[in-house]
Amino acid sequence: MKILVQKFGGTSVSTQEKRKLVVCKVMNAKEEGYFPVVVVSAMGRKGDPYATDTLLSLIDDNFKVANPLALDLLMSCGETISTVIMCNELNSKGIDAVPLTGGQAGIITDCNYNNAAILNVDTKQILSILQKGKIPVVAGFQGKDENNYITTIGRGGSDVTAAILGAALNAVETQIYTDVDGIMTADPRIVSEATLIKKISYDEIFQFADQGAKVIHPRAVEISRKYNIPLVIKNTMNNCDGTVISNLGNEGYESIITGITHMNNRVQIKICKNSDSSYEDLFDILAENLISIDLINVFPKEKIFTIDEKDFIKFQNLIKEINLVCSFVKECSKISIIGSKMRGIPGVMARILKALTREKIEVLQTADSHMTIWCLVETEYVEGAINALHREFKLG
Ligand code: ADP
Ligand code: MG
Repeated sequence: MKILVQKFGGTSVSTQEKRKLVVCKVMNAKEEGYFPVVVVSAMGRKGDPYATDTLLSLIDDNFKVANPLALDLLMSCGETISTVIMCNELNSKGIDAVPLTGGQAGIITDCNYNNAAILNVDTKQILSILQKGKIPVVAGFQGKDENNYITTIGRGGSDVTAAILGAALNAVETQIYTDVDGIMTADPRIVSEATLIKKISYDEIFQFADQGAKVIHPRAVEISRKYNIPLVIKNTMNNCDGTVISNLGNEGYESIITGITHMNNRVQIKICKNSDSSYEDLFDILAENLISIDLINVFPKEKIFTIDEKDFIKFQNLIKEINLVCSFVKECSKISIIGSKMRGIPGVMARILKALTREKIEVLQTADSHMTIWCLVETEYVEGAINALHREFKLG
């Protein structure tokens, strides 16, 4: 059985017009001899009636914190509604489709509500539906725990649902349909000349996803890599080939830089050494308090790093408690310049710094690894910086 997992994101299922295009994708797959397994997200984005954020606005913040189980049940509704609407659409074209919650589709998670980890996938139900010649339409982003409570697996989780089903069903490939042609050299909302990346390795795309490109969830990349299932990102609105993510990567592609992504809401912190011993223990203390840090530079008399804005108040309270003094720059963005071919090539950092200096953009900090160079800039300059770097490396 040639199984094909096809996941459709929020914008792809938001209107009837778009859902008709989804039906075409599913019908085409069927006509080509595949057995499609459809995964759907909640319909639309923030502000739309059945989008997850809209559902969340129906209950109080205190209730959310005190009742994670109820919160998950509410959050799962958007995807559940979507499965039924999609089945309705498929049925109207004479296709027999069966709506399934994540739990009914066999996705078993731990009890870490709101951010549950998938422990196991029982494919029995899906396989039985496929064997009857019908199409399972699975609600993304959700599963059930050992007590049969509905859980959700974190934002962007429908990508993870698709990847885990692709792996469990040993699919020919996992297709992620969205509102762009595939993975581009930069977010097309920021860089109008961004171009499509046709082929890319799991490793490179993991960097993209992990460093802020929201087009695919990093866990979905990890799972597909582990089980060696090709992951293909495509546009619901057209027939473009999209981006193929596989172990083969992009053989023959010569550019040293593959693309650029970024992450907002970073706060740069500088802490000077004082006589207090807590300076030496600072990183341990932050780890114990679950504050993750990055872009870490340690000097004899100073430590510089960044944290997420959401941890800032907690961080300030901690610092006060342990008698350290810090200075900080809020509203920073971390730009990631990614390319597996930059290893060992001299002068890449120099080109980056020159391109940004030309635009009078101050670089607050840098770091590099074998595949990525990071630059921290103030958020008001991030779009200009990404465009300048995109031009410098001729990615358009
Ligand atoms: P969906 O609802 O289909 O899951 P998402 O909003 O999660 O869609 O992801 C698609 C969006 O990701 C695009 O609209 C685009 O703005 C954004 N994006 C960010 N970086 C990139 C990139 N490098 N290539 C393509 N899209 C990107
Ligand atoms: Mg998404």
